[in-house]
Amino acid sequence: MRFKPSYAPGPTDVRENVRLVLAKKTNNPDFDKEFIDYYHEVCQKMGQVMGTTNEVLLLAGEGILALEAACASLTEPGDRVLVLDNGIYGEGFQDFVRMYGGEPVVLSFDYHKDIPVEEVRDYLEKDHDFKYATFVHCDTPTSILNDVSQLSPLLKEYGILTVVDSVAGMVGEPIDVDQNQIDICCGGTQKAISAPTGLAIVSISEDAKKAINNRKTPIASYYANLQIFKGYIEKGTLPYTMPAGNIEALDIALDNILKEGQLAVYERHMKIANAVRKSIQEYGLSLFLESGCSNTVTAIIIPDEIGALRLQQHIQETYNLYIATSLAQYEDVILRIGHMGENAFIEKVLSVLTVIDNGLRDLGFKGKGHLGQLFLDAYKAEN
Ligand SMILES: *Cc1c(COP(=O)(O)O)cnc(C)c1O
Repeated sequence: MRFKPSYAPGPTDVRENVRLVLAKKTNNPDFDKEFIDYYHEVCQKMGQVMGTTNEVLLLAGEGILALEAACASLTEPGDRVLVLDNGIYGEGFQDFVRMYGGEPVVLSFDYHKDIPVEEVRDYLEKDHDFKYATFVHCDTPTSILNDVSQLSPLLKEYGILTVVDSVAGMVGEPIDVDQNQIDICCGGTQKAISAPTGLAIVSISEDAKKAINNRKTPIASYYANLQIFKGYIEKGTLPYTMPAGNIEALDIALDNILKEGQLAVYERHMKIANAVRKSIQEYGLSLFLESGCSNTVTAIIIPDEIGALRLQQHIQETYNLYIATSLAQYEDVILRIGHMGENAFIEKVLSVLTVIDNGLRDLGFKGKGHLGQLFLDAYKAEN
């Protein structure tokens, strides 16, 4: 395999002590009782990092499977589901709801701002007949961060279960599942956790379990059915063969996070993100967002005459670095700096910004100063 360096909002760099785990011989995850106990231990460690005592499951798949499993397990034909939409992943939840027979009601907001909590409150006063609601913690294509601490408790006030996609939020931004009363919180290993791609993460509250257990119709999936894990410890068997290496790699990645200290990790993300946002603007480029910037990723508008795709291609060809643009309607508009997890270290961000500066200069953009230097100055001024 030819290895091309990349710097993107996931998959992120994986630290050497995590990568090395994948080369080790593993137990047989189907028969070995010790493996089942170990799986459970890693699930609990994941829960600790997410701030929850709810059951946590690790599914063989990647982040998207967590979203689908939440919708597949909760949705019954005809269920009304509130889909809060201020970004591409937020809007995308409606597809999973519909796929499993639900009726999504999409409440859309300005994509340049975080979800306005008061507007949601006003809406719920008029209509709150929903089984559950979905929204995204950090909607990566536009780098928006929604206020989970307000939104989730508000929905619970109205008796609505919450499904939150924190795939690109957790670890880089506080998620505090229990404090924020999130019923199903979704994660993936390849973003700020910085473990290899291959596991989806879900935490499931007692309310969510009740809703799943009280279904009148069977769940129309096997792989996306959260019930297949029920009683796995007592039974001494998991519903399918687990990628044991990925479980252990996640374990070590979580140790790295806990060793650094979760608050220190949040602070590292915040300092890097603040300096990136400041330097980008001083340099003469604009952020996509007006409010609600996530500390895990920054979306930058690339002027029309250059184009994000052309810049991406130029940087790839000239500097051998793959950097991310955005998705769908923003593919040629936004360039993204994915400063999350192992990518959120000053020397890595500095070299990426220097390459972007060179790329922009080559294509005729006249930045005010050197982007890398502006970043360093902004970082130093704050710390
Ligand atoms: C990355 C990501 C996912 C998982 O999607 P993949 O593109 O398949 O990795 C889900 N939700 C959000 C918000 C993400 O950033």
